[in-house]
Amino acid sequence: VEQGVKETESDPQVRTVGFGGYTDNKGIVTLDACIMDHKNNAGAVAYLKNIKHPISVARKVMESSKHVMLAGSGAYNFAIKHGFKKHNMLSKQSKNDWLKWKEDSKNIPDDNHDTITQLALDINGNLAGACSTSGLAYKLKGRVGDSPIIGSGLFVDNNVGAAGATGIGEEIMKNVGSFLIVELMKQGYNPDKACREAVRRIIQKYTGEIKFQVAFIALRKDG
Ligand code: ASP
Repeated sequence: VEQGVKETESDPQVRTVGFGGYTDNKGIVTLDACIMDHKNNAGAVAYLKNIKHPISVARKVMESSKHVMLAGSGAYNFAIKHGFKKHNMLSKQSKNDWLKWKEDSKNIPDDNHDTITQLALDINGNLAGACSTSGLAYKLKGRVGDSPIIGSGLFVDNNVGAAGATGIGEEIMKNVGSFLIVELMKQGYNPDKACREAVRRIIQKYTGEIKFQVAFIALRKDG
């Protein structure tokens, strides 16, 4: 899952993950990612700047620290200490788009948020998951979404299944979406019904028009 997510993190055409991602409101690309394995190990980074592969730093946090999540300059310093190189994550395109948005906030792209979440089941029947994003385009400086939050953006329970999210992180976090889906699968929901129920719980709290998007994927232990 780390390798799979790295492909997308490297791709400047994907404007919402890794290099070439849309910036925050100050013109800075900030990255959120997390990873979980079949042994209930987890690692995450939030508000990470200037590192090409946040998912690899998340894995490093999981494997080489006693913590689950590092944020901001602490995550950056940890990465540098573990051999990651400083990398300018701002593509020309992202800078130009940000300048246009600064001129007029109506210049907001259609693809203004997205995430890659990858779930895997290996030949031994073990599950893993990884999740990475640059978050919402032009988000307030300091904003962190659901994607690095274990249980919200991603959750793996090797006895049950795995789930991951994309969409407006604020909504996903308030409902702890990925944990909920795995928990529903534990109670017998199939993956499709579990995802639908997680979406239903989010939208049922709104009476007016829903003006945001959320989506989930799920994978059950039996594949
Ligand atoms: N979940 C991401 C965030 O809120 C964005 C997305 O997946 O659309 O940062």
